[in-house]
Amino acid sequence: MVKKPRFILCVCRGDCPGFAKLNVWQFVNFVREQLDVEYVVVHPQLCVWDGENFLNDLLKEGSKDTVYVIGACDPRLQRKLFKESFASKGLDIDKQLIPLDLRNMTTEDAIKKVEETISKIMEQP
Ligand code: SF4
Repeated sequence: MVKKPRFILCVCRGDCPGFAKLNVWQFVNFVREQLDVEYVVVHPQLCVWDGENFLNDLLKEGSKDTVYVIGACDPRLQRKLFKESFASKGLDIDKQLIPLDLRNMTTEDAIKKVEETISKIMEQP
């Protein structure tokens, strides 16, 4: 059975215009209550020092079967920003990080995107 992914939302400090259309609490409550996730976490700025400290605590050494879906900015940027944290725990960022760009999305569109992503993960054999 596929392990439920963990979902992290980074809201870019909460004042970035890119997230202005997203109702953060409506969105995260939908994800945690309706989708197959282990849990949901909201962080204000994952790519600075405290975000890095948080990721370094959250990512578990050698847990190769855990997938982290991060809703934030550009997926290529996310891979670049988080690669050291994943590498430091021996995790494979290409397989264990699913970065989603949720910028400029309405709450409904963001829900749809995450719903499709989680369903795909859970359908894997
Ligand atoms: S990880 Fe991306 S969305 Fe989050 S604060 Fe940094 S630039 Fe903004």
